[in-house]
Amino acid sequence: MNVVATIAGARDAISRARADGASIGFVPTMGALHAGHISLVDRARKEADFTVMSIFVNPLQFAPTEDLSRYPRPVEQDEKMSSDAGVDLLFKPGVEEMYPPGRTISVIAGELGKDWEGSSRPGHFDGVLTVVAKLFNIIQPDIAVFGRKDLQQAALVSALVRDLDMPLTIVLAPIVRERDGLALSSRNQYLSEDDRRRALVLNRALRAARARFAGGVTDVESLEAAGRGVLDEEPDVKVDYFAVIDETTFKRSAVASGKSSAIVAARVGTTRLIDNMSLAAE
Ligand code: AMP
Repeated sequence: MNVVATIAGARDAISRARADGASIGFVPTMGALHAGHISLVDRARKEADFTVMSIFVNPLQFAPTEDLSRYPRPVEQDEKMSSDAGVDLLFKPGVEEMYPPGRTISVIAGELGKDWEGSSRPGHFDGVLTVVAKLFNIIQPDIAVFGRKDLQQAALVSALVRDLDMPLTIVLAPIVRERDGLALSSRNQYLSEDDRRRALVLNRALRAARARFAGGVTDVESLEAAGRGVLDEEPDVKVDYFAVIDETTFKRSAVASGKSSAIVAARVGTTRLIDNMSLAAE
């Protein structure tokens, strides 16, 4: 695996791969890699010849109150995991490389980024889309793989590519979970043993909404009530939102359909977790 920290170095390695006729698959991450990230690499390797992963903890997408400085950065372990997974090029720029002084242009998420993660984390999606646009311009991939774990982010990235006519295909990959249902996340390592157990209520709540939908209930308020009833079982889990939304618009409507997902965000101890589940059987 080739490891580069500069934009020029990344462009150089990629143009050599292109000259060999390779198609380029791209997996953007913030590191602290786990099996969820590796599943995206596996998918990229199926879809393209040459796999690029980026590791960049993007300050633009963190609010001043959030966990930017304590975000885990296990540099050596990440390099080993990405190399073992078959990544061809690891791009890990520093903040100065990505954001030299004088930067002035940003991408604005707009309507699709207004609610849920958008309203809980003001400015977050503008930061995400700005760095993703930069990364797409640097790497110029044929495909880029994103996880459904961050469903609203994935919808926004698809909208970015559509609305700004970027010449690549976005591939969405399923959520990788622990055996007990907890969605893998770099932030899970912040959880104490008790919090780790409490956090399972998110998955139980999503499954409760899905089970009610499978039982024939389509009324969104009843589906949300099913999920919230389960969340109430853990009073120490502070729910930010639990909602049933349309997967493409991220709007609530009165009636759920096969395109609806239940989405949840909650604080468990000091850690904010998000998860989601399609209401249609997976
Ligand atoms: P992050 O490093 O948290 O920015 O995530 C990088 C990519 O990995 C995003 O596309 C995430 O949606 C995806 N991802 C994170 N956790 C999971 C998971 N448990 N299953 C699948 N994809 C994931």
